[in-house]
Amino acid sequence: MNRKSFLKSGLILPFIDMNVSEFEEYVVGSHKATELMPALFIGHGSPMNAIIPNEFNKNWRAMGDKLPKPKAILCISAHWETRGTKVTAMPKPKTIHDFGGFPQKLFDTQYPAPGSPYFAQQVIDLMKEVHVEKDLEWGLDHGSWSVLNQMFPKADIPTFQLSLDYLAKPEDHFKIAMKLKSLRSKGVLILGSGNIVHNLGRMDSSNKPHDWALSFDALVKERIESGNFASLVGYRGLGASATMSIPTAEHYLPLLYVLGVKDKSDNLQFFNETIDLGSISMRSLYFG
Ligand code: ZN
Repeated sequence: MNRKSFLKSGLILPFIDMNVSEFEEYVVGSHKATELMPALFIGHGSPMNAIIPNEFNKNWRAMGDKLPKPKAILCISAHWETRGTKVTAMPKPKTIHDFGGFPQKLFDTQYPAPGSPYFAQQVIDLMKEVHVEKDLEWGLDHGSWSVLNQMFPKADIPTFQLSLDYLAKPEDHFKIAMKLKSLRSKGVLILGSGNIVHNLGRMDSSNKPHDWALSFDALVKERIESGNFASLVGYRGLGASATMSIPTAEHYLPLLYVLGVKDKSDNLQFFNETIDLGSISMRSLYFG
């Protein structure tokens, strides 16, 4: 059946909640060889990076310009932790302003990208033994939209989120990530958003990086370059600098999702290799 007769046949009805690109994917996607979509980890830092031009978001914009246009973006954000793993599946995710004490302009910022019920279902199907729950309540939190607002300002790419199960062990997160890898060959950009070093209690307005922050950030860089991901999954064994850099795991864990979808053919590129405010690593990386 060609596309025209397929459309005429009325078989389109079950797919009524798909947008155009998802429908195209359904009709032809599984037979089409697609290059692997890159995967990114972004150190997101302050929510103000969404609206105030600076060196960090300049590099996010440059990265957005360089990337092939994804069919969808799957964000794993530090700011969505749940009991069990969930995936957003609404057609129109709301912009969540999950912070306080920032200017009104930031609260007024919207990121009206469509969702991706189609790829959300693909995630659920890929994870059979993990059980991923479909979520229709969340939306896009600032871990996602503060970065995407700069990287893809048109907000025209279907975007959805996978939550961090706060009961899962680091190795469980890494296993979930490995199951997501096949999405890259279907045109889905995997974007982990957190910070490798994130200790808000030790922020320093003089902007002088703490020694332990520099040392852990450099260690993570070296382990990524050498492909020693097992030691990064087992970060609790990496000593005092890890303990100081990761007082709570949620900003670090999105990195494991990006490491878990790496392909052996990928090139690695780091950017924003800076410690901000003494204790926030903005280090970001590209696999592709
Ligand atoms: Zn954050």
